[in-house]
Amino acid sequence: MKVIILGSGSSGGTPVIGSSGWGNCDSNNSKNFRTRPSIIVEHKNTRLLVDTSPDLRQQLLKAKVWEFDAILYTHAHADHVNGIDDIRALNYYKGTSLPAYGTQSTLDELQSRFAYVFKNYDKSSKYFRPSLTPKIITQEFTIGSINITPFTQQHGKGVSTGFRFNEFSYSTDVNHLSKQALNILKGTDTWVVDCLSEEPHPSHSHLSQTLEWVKLISPKRAVFNHLSHFFDYDTLNNKLPKNIEPAFDGMIINIP
Ligand SMILES: [Zn+2]
Ligand SMILES: [Zn+2]
Repeated sequence: MKVIILGSGSSGGTPVIGSSGWGNCDSNNSKNFRTRPSIIVEHKNTRLLVDTSPDLRQQLLKAKVWEFDAILYTHAHADHVNGIDDIRALNYYKGTSLPAYGTQSTLDELQSRFAYVFKNYDKSSKYFRPSLTPKIITQEFTIGSINITPFTQQHGKGVSTGFRFNEFSYSTDVNHLSKQALNILKGTDTWVVDCLSEEPHPSHSHLSQTLEWVKLISPKRAVFNHLSHFFDYDTLNNKLPKNIEPAFDGMIINIP
């Protein structure tokens, strides 16, 4: 299995707009330039896109990938969703609507904000608008060669969906993991997980908590993601144990 981190940043990206700009980051290190969170998960001939960040167009051009079997949504926050219009190019390339997997509440929210994306597709319209077909997830499911176990994660006052894909797991936007979620994560080979900042945050995990989770789950490899501009890549990397590293845009992770 191969995972590409399209965007390793938090909701504002790095640098952020405004006077805090690069925060604690060295602007000369390209690993500190972070777009908003999306990833690609591929195994054999199945390829999935998880979330459609506002930076999706640039991310897919950089990764040189534009053919997907499905799109999965973790939740409906703007930093994970607002690139939805760029799906139009993926529809055009594939010549079909794409299935969009998410919980009932995530898909309801997407359909109320982007109703035009979910209208019945008429082939004669030549994809003048993006087209998604909603697929509500409630339990384990399979897309091609990838077995997917979704689980609920606490994310501030709301929830997000974590996913286990075969031996790889993805937990973005989470500040609390239930026993049930920890049980699904146990035994995962590689885990990409939220680590927003050094300081506690009401809706994201922070460094000491994410390190605790890694101890509990003990994956072979952990990659810290959704990084704010307060985390300089080298400074954070030097602090972390050998099997844990910060994510960066364009990072490729191979899972045996
Ligand atoms: Zn987010
Ligand atoms: Zn969020």
